[in-house]
Amino acid sequence: MTKEELWSKALAEIELAVSRANFVTWFKNTRIVEQNDGVVIVGVPNGFSKEWLENKYHKFILKSLRGLAPEIRSINYAITQAEPNIKIRPKKELAPVLDEQMEFKEFHIDPKTNLNQKYTLETFVVGPFNELAHAAALAVIKSPGRVYNPLFIYGGVGLGKTHLLQAIGNAIIKNNPAKKVHYISSEKFGNEVVSSILNNSIHNFKEKYREFDLLVVDDVQFFSGKTKTQEEFFYTFNTLHEAGKQVVFSSDRSPKLIPDIGERLLSRMEAGVIVDISEPEYESRLAILKTKTQERKIDLPEKTLELIASSVHKNIRELEGALNTVYMQSRYQNRELSEDDVKLILSKNIKPKQVLTFGQIIKSVSDFYDIQEKAIYERTRKTEIVKPRQVAMYLIREDLGGSYPYIGQKFGGMDHTTAIHAYEKVSSELKKNPKLENEMRIIREKYQNIK
Ligand code: ADP
Ligand code: MG
Repeated sequence: MTKEELWSKALAEIELAVSRANFVTWFKNTRIVEQNDGVVIVGVPNGFSKEWLENKYHKFILKSLRGLAPEIRSINYAITQAEPNIKIRPKKELAPVLDEQMEFKEFHIDPKTNLNQKYTLETFVVGPFNELAHAAALAVIKSPGRVYNPLFIYGGVGLGKTHLLQAIGNAIIKNNPAKKVHYISSEKFGNEVVSSILNNSIHNFKEKYREFDLLVVDDVQFFSGKTKTQEEFFYTFNTLHEAGKQVVFSSDRSPKLIPDIGERLLSRMEAGVIVDISEPEYESRLAILKTKTQERKIDLPEKTLELIASSVHKNIRELEGALNTVYMQSRYQNRELSEDDVKLILSKNIKPKQVLTFGQIIKSVSDFYDIQEKAIYERTRKTEIVKPRQVAMYLIREDLGGSYPYIGQKFGGMDHTTAIHAYEKVSSELKKNPKLENEMRIIREKYQNIK
């Protein structure tokens, strides 16, 4: 596991446990700068974050990291980035704001269920982008184990999968406190399998899982390539399913696109209902912002929320982050921010479009289709090479603005008509094949993780 992966997995766990405001405030812009010999150095943006992580979150961070990488012994915190480069200076003491932010009621994950009560349907905004997933969730809550079993929800990062999954669990318990509900990420499940094999306690493990009325498994794309975990899960699933117990999955992609997943597990995952969550449109983004401001009793003018909704597109987590930053700034300033102030804050905080390179595209495509990078340049008609090559050419044209002759030349002096043909083929395929669209999304998500 690279340190980036390790940290993003740890953050996913921490996010589940702390209040949203605290997550955004303290964990935003943190990263692992070094991991060596069991010692991890977490880079933080400023002295405040350093102090708060050390004093309030250290144990929890250590626990999360150890859960993922048991060899980790200690953590140090270091200021590694400049203070957020907003020129507006705080006029007010910081402390009152921070006190208000800190809710000591956090870490409220029920250890029996792994559910956090902050995720409910009441706080889940429904719009065209997620209404199918929401409707399916309601049906499952109404009659668990009967209608949609299993329910499989997929969609990109930060679009509300975990929220919805947890909300299903919370609602089922609310309706019937006797129900045994269990939420787990696929990775944690995998870790449990491994440790119960090591401890010779696989029997207890099986027993534990077979008792649940509702089993929720988050991010099943991480089952990929883990044969033993898949096998154990397959048996657990069958037992639950045969007993009429409900199973709910999430993933960042549709089941078919998860690489290295056994045929029989795949067919189980596909056997119920599969729904996706897409990116929220403007109205939904605005509705989400309004809900968040009410929840957190934040007072910001409508115009400000509109500005945020129109500048943050993709991801609800980032939408919340932007809201928080703007709110913190208006508190520091102790006045209502002008439209220009808000625009300035947003422009400084929204990730600039990444500078993309030819190499990143090739790497992302070959990584996704699981072929060697150099294979993509081969002059061959094998479909397993032709498709990735055409996709790469398409993306170079679309995302990099490469000309056809440039593409031809980069692919070992192929004729530019080959590039045109590839581009047109992929374009027309995209219009009729949603699967390909989904593949493109995942490949594009990879750009950021590839140097
Ligand atoms: P994912 O699991 O898909 O990566 P999360 O469920 O963690 O995404 O959502 C990211 C953040 O956005 C969470 O704080 C969550 O509460 C919030 N969120 C996502 N979808 C909605 C929604 N429809 N309404 C309100 N908040 C949402
Ligand atoms: Mg999630």
